[in-house]
Amino acid sequence: MSDFEQHPADTDWHRWAPIGETLDASGVPGSGPAESIAAFELLPLAPMLVPEKPRSGELDPSECPLCAPAEHTIWQDDDWRVNAGFAGPSGVPFVGAFSPRRHVRLEDAPIEVLAGLGPLMQRISEAAKAIPAVARVHFSRWNDGSAHLHLWAYARPAGMMQGRGPILPYWEQCLPAMPDEMMRENLEIVAHGLAAGGGEAFPNR
Ligand SMILES: [Zn+2]
Repeated sequence: MSDFEQHPADTDWHRWAPIGETLDASGVPGSGPAESIAAFELLPLAPMLVPEKPRSGELDPSECPLCAPAEHTIWQDDDWRVNAGFAGPSGVPFVGAFSPRRHVRLEDAPIEVLAGLGPLMQRISEAAKAIPAVARVHFSRWNDGSAHLHLWAYARPAGMMQGRGPILPYWEQCLPAMPDEMMRENLEIVAHGLAAGGGEAFPNR
């Protein structure tokens, strides 16, 4: 990447931002003493360089991992697929990524594909809540790893008040991986729950 020239971003916001300072993280939801989890410690705010490096699948869609048929697809229909278990067993009962089957960004996704997103979120939530350990399902859309539109579903374990809200993905990275057999059972529940409403469970098995 030596030919990739970056320079500090120069906007009103960037000139204002406390680059180099270490910020107080005590206001992060879930990090306060009331929730009884360890406090965050942040690294100093790093310089912000532009242009940013391209995301996965940004320059060459033929290299997009989300477009390739995956053994970790637990369900798909004509427009959407759900992948889970690709990083091994998760720490929470279910973590899944769902994406259009076509290589689209949010900015250029056809409206008829996006129209299926709401019903799919409802179905994923209900399917994951059929896992006995699950109380609720959280959704997130981060836009930095892959250009191909994708969203995440995180199942919060019942009674895990420390995992409410946006802190759950951090817990997920710190909890030990659940046993393989437990993960397989959970993925079966979600996949067949989804397929009960249409589409196909484990299409690449
Ligand atoms: Zn793609």
